[in-house]
Amino acid sequence: MSAGLVDSFNRIHDYLRISVTDRCNLRCVYCMPEEGMEFEPSEKLLTFDEITEVVRVLANHGVRKLRLTGGEPLVRKNVEQLVAMLANIPGIEDIALTTNAIYFAAKADQLKQAGLTRINISLDSLQAERFAMITRGGNIEKVLQSIEAAYRVGLYPIKINVVLMKGINDDEIMDFLRLTLDRDIQVRFIEYMPIGHDDQGWKNKYVPLSTVLETCEGQGYMFEESAEVYGNGPSQNYRIKGAQGSFGLIHPVSNHFCQTCNRLRLTADGNIKPCLYWSDEFNVRPHLGNEEDLMKLFYRALGQKPETHEMALKLTNSSQSHTPTIRRMSQIGG
Ligand code: SAM
Ligand code: SF4
Repeated sequence: MSAGLVDSFNRIHDYLRISVTDRCNLRCVYCMPEEGMEFEPSEKLLTFDEITEVVRVLANHGVRKLRLTGGEPLVRKNVEQLVAMLANIPGIEDIALTTNAIYFAAKADQLKQAGLTRINISLDSLQAERFAMITRGGNIEKVLQSIEAAYRVGLYPIKINVVLMKGINDDEIMDFLRLTLDRDIQVRFIEYMPIGHDDQGWKNKYVPLSTVLETCEGQGYMFEESAEVYGNGPSQNYRIKGAQGSFGLIHPVSNHFCQTCNRLRLTADGNIKPCLYWSDEFNVRPHLGNEEDLMKLFYRALGQKPETHEMALKLTNSSQSHTPTIRRMSQIGG
């Protein structure tokens, strides 16, 4: 039995995030520019067989949980076939999807039957016009239908990811929290991260997540820390007293959780990224077909995984110890 995927800081890696495409049907303001994105040609993307091979090897060495992401994973044709292939790999216990959910309702049954176990839906505003502004054209009705579809097929608790941005959606904190009162929904507020492009506006839009707890209290809602752990996340979880659902805070910038990082990332073009933030990448393609070679690559990636990212240094314009990635979030998968 393998000793598992352990890095130089004794962190065990049992979780792989797989980006299946860098393309997307939306253009969220914090993720992609409105125009001018260049996408990988389809022949550069790992095929479903290649992704399955990588996962089979990693599952032999302790990976148990997978997440499909992108770009938008549901724009990759027949992605439910990939879910079925991955669900058949011995050792894989959990296959989650992070999606903008515009296309989810139409595929909910197929994905569930293929073996999808959980879903995270990105939804940054509950107001139709504002949602369209943030996503540059998205139709919120489609997302709301997808939330109902996720319920119908039994993918609960449904997680809703909200990237909080000052002056854009921070006045909706309480509206999102109210969603948790009557339903088994987990709303997760995520700090806006400075990833992959020099967004001068980032600091102005950054909101520390303590604001969520202050808002909740300020509106007279009592909450308690929730001991339940949902999935693999680094989220700090809370529940408004008496609520069916819960809410979580994910603060990668102000209070990073690198010491418990259990994740590796595989980009759509076949690069292992040991850390979301830094530029280090390890291309799996030349090593496919040879498990021993692939494992050497993974151990090299783990050996070079840094102890922590340094996003917070960007708040103070301080210099950083390595080179940050130039990939955008849509080219990594979040
Ligand atoms: N298209 C899918 C979606 O939006 O859920 C999956 C890919 S998207 C890159 C994954 C997650 O990253 C989403 O929840 C999105 O909100 C988040 N994200 C993108 N850019 C971000 C940024 N600069 N800071 C924080 N989160 C970001
Ligand atoms: Fe697309 Fe997701 Fe990026 Fe929005 S956050 S542009 S939905 S990849």
